[in-house]
Amino acid sequence: MSECLFCKIVEKKIPVKLVHEDEHTMAFDDINPQAPAHTLVIPKRHVSAVQDVEVEDESLLARLLMSCTKVAVLKGLRESGYRLVTNTGRDAGQTVFHLHFHVMGGRPMAWPPG
Ligand code: AMP
Ligand code: ZN
Repeated sequence: MSECLFCKIVEKKIPVKLVHEDEHTMAFDDINPQAPAHTLVIPKRHVSAVQDVEVEDESLLARLLMSCTKVAVLKGLRESGYRLVTNTGRDAGQTVFHLHFHVMGGRPMAWPPG
């Protein structure tokens, strides 16, 4: 069994509130939401971070962004707006090293982020 938390979620070994799933991606609510709507979109195949996607696999990035916009619509954020974030590495505060996009909305957000 994988040691990666999000791989375990893909393997259905850890329960989540599933929002959307397709052949290559999965979306589930963040366990510690930082906004009224806070969903994570991940590839089913393990990739550590966005910079680790190989050019041969670039279509995965499009699939992930398409899933993000699907989540935004499902969460009713299309009109009000939302933020897509992918923390990468130490300075960004990445804590789970399986690529994920945060889809966040439901409140006004500050810029720049802290
Ligand atoms: P990051 O800090 O960008 O790596 O984001 C990791 C995110 O995963 C955090 O927002 C956590 O709250 C979230 N998270 C950690 N464990 C779980 C879990 N079991 N189910 C859902 N979200 C989780
Ligand atoms: Zn993983």
